[in-house]
Amino acid sequence: MISLKRNKKGEFVKATGIRSRASSIYKPNQTEDYKVSRGRFSNFLSCPRCFYLDRVRGLAEPSSPGWTLNTLTDTLLKKEFDTCRAQQKPHRILVENNLSHIVPFQHDDIEHWRNSLSGGLQVRFKDTNIILQGGVDDVWFNTQTEEVIIADYKSQQSNYGVSQETYFKSVYHDGYKTQLDFYAYLLKGMGFKVSKDAYLYICNAIEKDDGFFGKMHFDEVLIHYEVKTDYIDDHVQLMIDTMNSDKLPESNESCENCAYARMRGESEK
Ligand code: SF4
Repeated sequence: MISLKRNKKGEFVKATGIRSRASSIYKPNQTEDYKVSRGRFSNFLSCPRCFYLDRVRGLAEPSSPGWTLNTLTDTLLKKEFDTCRAQQKPHRILVENNLSHIVPFQHDDIEHWRNSLSGGLQVRFKDTNIILQGGVDDVWFNTQTEEVIIADYKSQQSNYGVSQETYFKSVYHDGYKTQLDFYAYLLKGMGFKVSKDAYLYICNAIEKDDGFFGKMHFDEVLIHYEVKTDYIDDHVQLMIDTMNSDKLPESNESCENCAYARMRGESEK
């Protein structure tokens, strides 16, 4: 995708390829606190080299437009869940799935937890200067076990439908597991009793009518996932070791972006 840099007025400006906010660039072995988001941690798991180039060398990734349709389904679902939260009632999808004992979690900080820009869920990693953070879509509460539950909303389009049996067979959904694991890890670190059960609320747009007519139809499916948090400590430690090193990690040989950059360099010689 061709991405041309513009300022807030929409005017073209020179793209430097480097982030301008110095505090977002990590200096190996720095002692000041440094925040690493869930998304950056996932980037590290996918390719430590790209993570390092981004966080330590300060390279700016090309920007891309927001996923505004997906964001809208999230916003509307949050409104529904907030209504249920105020009444401490289960949402309709929980009732349909025989999970009426689960209600949206009532907590003074819920708005803050859901906003990654204002910090989201946060926990310091052991006695380091690294603060792990992530904005969760929602937190629910199991009234029987008194455990909190991680919930995330996803919008998609598939004519094959969505089911518990097939959902995680797609390699493209693997990252969602890490996402749920990471949020559960953060909430545990914040002292909450976290359920091993987590849920993805999938909104799947379906091709149903003979035209658009100004509306789309969605199937709504609840996908269950059992969170695992025991692997996260080791991977976060590896990530910190990488950040504190001067050595650029190896690239991922399956990465099409790196292959493109390599071949482009060759072609332009
Ligand atoms: S292989 Fe290269 S482009 Fe791909 S994620 Fe890693 S560093 Fe980035």
